Amino acid sequence: MSPTSQAAASRRGHTAATFDSLDPATGEVVGTHPVHTEEEVRAAVDLARTEAAWWAGLSFTGRKRHLTAWKAAMVQRLPELIEMVHRETGKPLGDATLEAGLAIEHIGWAAGHARRVLARRKVSPGLLMAHQSASVAYKPLGVIGVIGPWNYPVFTPLGSIAYALAAGNAVVFKPSEYTPGVGVWLAERFEEAVGRPVLQVVTGLGATGAALCHAGADKIAFTGSTATGKKVMAACAETLTPVVIEAGGKDAVIVDADADIPVAADAALWGACSNAGQTCIGVERVYVHEQVYDEFVDALTTKAARLHAGADGKIGPITMPSQLHVIRRHVQDALDKGGRAVVGGLDAVGERYVQPTILVDVPENSLAVQEETFGPTMTVAKVRDMDEAIELTNATAYGLGSTVFSKRHGMTVAERIRSGMSAVNGVISFAGIPSLPFGGVGDSGFGRIHGPDGLKEFTYAKAIARQRFRPMLTLTTFDRTEKTDRLFTRVIGLLHGPRTRR
Ligand code: NAD
Repeated sequence: MSPTSQAAASRRGHTAATFDSLDPATGEVVGTHPVHTEEEVRAAVDLARTEAAWWAGLSFTGRKRHLTAWKAAMVQRLPELIEMVHRETGKPLGDATLEAGLAIEHIGWAAGHARRVLARRKVSPGLLMAHQSASVAYKPLGVIGVIGPWNYPVFTPLGSIAYALAAGNAVVFKPSEYTPGVGVWLAERFEEAVGRPVLQVVTGLGATGAALCHAGADKIAFTGSTATGKKVMAACAETLTPVVIEAGGKDAVIVDADADIPVAADAALWGACSNAGQTCIGVERVYVHEQVYDEFVDALTTKAARLHAGADGKIGPITMPSQLHVIRRHVQDALDKGGRAVVGGLDAVGERYVQPTILVDVPENSLAVQEETFGPTMTVAKVRDMDEAIELTNATAYGLGSTVFSKRHGMTVAERIRSGMSAVNGVISFAGIPSLPFGGVGDSGFGRIHGPDGLKEFTYAKAIARQRFRPMLTLTTFDRTEKTDRLFTRVIGLLHGPRTRR
């Protein structure tokens, strides 16, 4: 058990069960952590409530100073974080570095922009209420419960945690049972930098996450599978606790006839296979204009044939062993339905690693086209035109991210895709731009992290109307006369009647 897990466990008097996090490349134990119980989770939320009062009482500048110190503490010991991410997820060190760096960038943005987005500001009261001064501010909700996945154990939960903290909330974070060490490390650096447990971590399996939904938090920010997201929402409905659901995806790349084919092929391959394909916004499907289909498939397969998953490769192991069955089932189903593997195939799915797999001629009703595979695989299909590409892209229940390659039509095509985010002539680029909101529609969930929307997600809007002078027409009194009513009707007619041009 890590020192912080032990400290947290003893602070909560924890004596019972523990669980191990394992290195998916070797099966070795990376760390042992307490399985926090319902009472312990509740105690963490209670403590967070006290911390939230202190934290919310600071100014935006005060919180920014603390968040900047946290960020600096992380940067100072970055190699440790990268090693922990590498060991718990299996991803190559370079990918772990990229993830951590982007996450730290988000902390900086959230801390630096909270005042501009959330502080009280005046809004126009309108002509009817010109005697009022109207303003709105965004207040912290209190305690935010964050439930995280394992695939990006730094970037993904920090998308909620950093924005919730910058907005003035305290956070109780339940990391995935596959990456508890990363969660504990983040909270350790916070307590070191700030000196108070405004960010706490509770560890455990799904039951600990379920306990967090019932522990009295003011909002739950969940990132994980759609199936678990539904359970979280159902649990939170009992107490009318609001939720953000960042769930799975089935993202497509569209390649138009005028696209730069080598660039599109390189991006599609990286989008599908980096992090062993275990990316919510990873590329799972590609739709290519018939005029450039052969050229694209050639470029893609040539590149993919040089890519290798393994301890020495650029693709790490599959983090969650049970996912290997899902990947195998999707490839098998695609082949059974008449698809062909032009790279990889069923044999590519090994004991721990999956080699890149490119499937063509796969019917659209196949599992590999409709359900999240979460492996280094992709389907590539030929389309007549962009209308067909958009129609097929939109024909899944998910709607997280998407990508378009086209020199002239990128924006037009992107606008017509039903997804929370699109990248044009690049891949996954939106996730690295802190000012852009991140989130999906449909089975990919709802609510937004990142950007101004991500800050507001962890607040409630507080409106104030302050009377500046007595109005010509006092409307909110029982002393209102018929004359006032007639005048009011005339004003409404002038403002909104058929001849008004407003
Ligand atoms: P998961 O749903 O299995 O688990 C996510 C978290 O929920 C874990 O911490 C888990 O312990 C917890 N949990 C399990 N049961 C629970 C319950 N009943 N109540 C509350 N919490 C519970 O997901 P995963 O396998 O860890 O992550 C992979 C999934 O996450 C993929 O579907 C991926 O697309 C998705 N994901 C989405 C985003 C996004 O931003 N949209 C980002 C990363 C990952």
